[in-house]
Amino acid sequence: AHDAPLSPAAGLGFVSLVGAGPGDPGLLTLKARARLMHAQVVVYDRLAVQSLPCDLPAAVELHAVGKEAGHHPLPQEEINALLVRLGREGKRVVRFKGGDPYVFGRGGEEAMALHDAGVPFEVVPGPTSGVAAAAYAGIPISQRRESVRLTLVTAHEAVKKKGPQVRWDLIAPDAHDTLVGYMGLTSLGEVVHQLLAAGMDPETPAAMIERATTAAQRLVRAPVRDLPGAVEAAGIGPPALFIIGRVVRHADTLDWFARRPLFGQRLGLFAPGGELADALSLAGAELLEPPAPLTPAARVVMAVAPITGWIFRSADEVDLLEEERDTPGFGAELTAWCLTDEATARARELGWPHVERIDDQPAALVAAIGAHPQG
Ligand code: SAH
Repeated sequence: AHDAPLSPAAGLGFVSLVGAGPGDPGLLTLKARARLMHAQVVVYDRLAVQSLPCDLPAAVELHAVGKEAGHHPLPQEEINALLVRLGREGKRVVRFKGGDPYVFGRGGEEAMALHDAGVPFEVVPGPTSGVAAAAYAGIPISQRRESVRLTLVTAHEAVKKKGPQVRWDLIAPDAHDTLVGYMGLTSLGEVVHQLLAAGMDPETPAAMIERATTAAQRLVRAPVRDLPGAVEAAGIGPPALFIIGRVVRHADTLDWFARRPLFGQRLGLFAPGGELADALSLAGAELLEPPAPLTPAARVVMAVAPITGWIFRSADEVDLLEEERDTPGFGAELTAWCLTDEATARARELGWPHVERIDDQPAALVAAIGAHPQG
C-alpha cells in the first residue's frame, strides 16, 4: 500500500469529494458549502449543478465535466487524471458530485486515483437521491412493521452482460424489502420482468420519481406489474429512480411536497431575500437567490432549468437582469413579479412579456403567485 498523506501538506493541494445532494440546493450540507466557498477549482457534474451556491466567489474556477449542452462528458479516467493534476499543482479542489459521492457515483474510483497519486483528499457525504426522493415523494422507506430492509441497486446492470449482476431473484420474494433503483429508466421493463419471474407480488406498490426534490419533480405510481407502461405513458425522463415496496402506498397521504401552493415554481429573487425568500420557499417554490451583481456560478445555476418568475423590488434589479434575458432559463413564460411601481414601470419599459404588480407582503405574494396560471 501507499502512504498517502490524509490531510493538507506543504506543496500539495487538497481534493474534497463533495456530495451535492439530489437537486434542492437547500439540501447542501454546511460542510459542502464551506468547502465550495474556499475552493480554487470546482469540478462538477451535470447532476450537481443545481446545488452550486449562487454566491460562490467569482474567483473560483468552474470546470464542467458532465453531460451539458455543448459538452461531451469527460471519460472517468480523464476526470481522475484532472483531479490528480490539480492536486499536484497545489490547488484546493472540490469535486462536486450529485447525491452522495460514493453511492453509484464512481467517487470510489476518484478517491483511489488520488490515493495512488499521493494527493490528500476527503469525502463529504451528501443526501443520496434515492433517500431524498422518498422523503419528497411521501414514502417512508423503512416504515416500522412494513419494511425491515432497504436495498439500493444500480438497475442499469440488469441490461449489461458483463460484470456482477444484481440478484433480483433474492430481492423479489422479500415482501418486507424496499427496493430503490438508480439508473433504472431504460432497464425498467427488464428489471420488472426479472422481479415478477422471481416471485414478486405483481400488486406490490411501485413508483418512479423524476427530478426529485426540484420544481420539476414528477411522481408516477402503479402496481409494479404496470409501472413500465405507466412510466412510458407519462414520458418520464432522466434523472429518475424507482422505489418498489409496500411502503410506497403511503404517498397517498404523505405526498407533502407536490401539494404545496408554489410547487413547480422556480423563482428568482436577488439576495438577501429575507422574509420573502422564507415565505416562498416554505410555500414550495424552488428559490434562486443570487447576489447582485450576478456571479458566474449564479449564471450556471440559472441556466439549468426554466425560471418561472422573478421578483423585483426596484428598477435597479430589473436592469441587473437585462443582459440575462436571452440566456437559457429565461423563457417567454417568465413572469416579472414587481413589488414597487418603479420596478413595474421599468419592466414594462424594457418589454418583459408578463409583468404583474403585486403586494410586497409575504402572504399576499405567495397567494398571488399561487393563483397565477403557470407558463
Ligand atoms: N451519487 C448519486 C447517484 C449517481 S447515479 C446519488 O447519490 O444520488 C445517477 C442516478 O441517480 C440517476 O440515473 C438517477 O437514478 C438518480 N438520481 C440522481 N438525482 C436524481 C433526482 N433528483 N431524481 C431522481 N433520480 C435521481
